[in-house]
Amino acid sequence: MPNEFDFIDWVRTRQSPSDRVILPAGDDLAILSGVPDALLVGIDQILDGVHFDSATHSPAAIGRKAMNRNLSDCAAMACLPLAAVVSLAMPRDLPATFAKELYEGMRTAGEKLGCAIVGGDTGAWAGKLAISVAILGRSDGVTPVRRSGAHAGDLVYVTGALGGSILARHMDFTPRIDEARALVSAHRITAMIDLSDGLSRDLAHICRESGVGAVIDADSVPVHADVARLPASNRTPLEHALHDGEDYELCFTSPDEVPSATRIGRIVSGHEIMLAQHGRKSPLVPLGFEHAF
Ligand SMILES: [Mg+2]
Repeated sequence: MPNEFDFIDWVRTRQSPSDRVILPAGDDLAILSGVPDALLVGIDQILDGVHFDSATHSPAAIGRKAMNRNLSDCAAMACLPLAAVVSLAMPRDLPATFAKELYEGMRTAGEKLGCAIVGGDTGAWAGKLAISVAILGRSDGVTPVRRSGAHAGDLVYVTGALGGSILARHMDFTPRIDEARALVSAHRITAMIDLSDGLSRDLAHICRESGVGAVIDADSVPVHADVARLPASNRTPLEHALHDGEDYELCFTSPDEVPSATRIGRIVSGHEIMLAQHGRKSPLVPLGFEHAF
């Protein structure tokens, strides 16, 4: 599997231009034209042993996560979900009740935010459980927020607090759709992403797509209380907040003061992402996140 950034670049070279495609693959969701309001489309896959552990997590919790990851992508673009379709690859030895509870987890998570499951497919095989949820979103009066609109001088913000999601939050989180819609109605939001891969990596997506750099103020990064409850590791609390991933909060940029979120730094010209700490700046290198199931 190639580096994610390289892979996105490769996918882009394979896409044919179409006047039906306003924004192709590469952001949280793609944007299509041809409907009264713009239609947004994306898909997300979760795998047993990578994103969840079927030996410890309940089928309902696994289903909820599968749906909520897609709803979090809707939040990242400040769009509303329209409907979802689901593909399940089920191990042959799992009982039918497992599939039903999984579906109920997906259905109830979707319904909370007005997203119906309108179709799907299941298959049984000798492999592990894999779930793909494809989602359609609608912009509904709001210009979808892309990753590519950050400018030097914008401020960088996050919602919520970060790090330690592995304890529980990565399976049980609230997609920040309401918050995203409120943000875009009250402020100029120039770029946004949901924090699935960790602040350092997701901020790098914004900076890369926008052609800018950033300076993050270490003391401003909100560290979640879960970090203090983690088993001892070689990461500092700040490093957990910067790199752990699966916070499913929002990171966004704006030229405005945004009191409802935490300001953690600013966008600068160039392409370097730096961490300012103890009066010094050092490169903020994105670290991959990996669960240890
Ligand atoms: Mg995303």
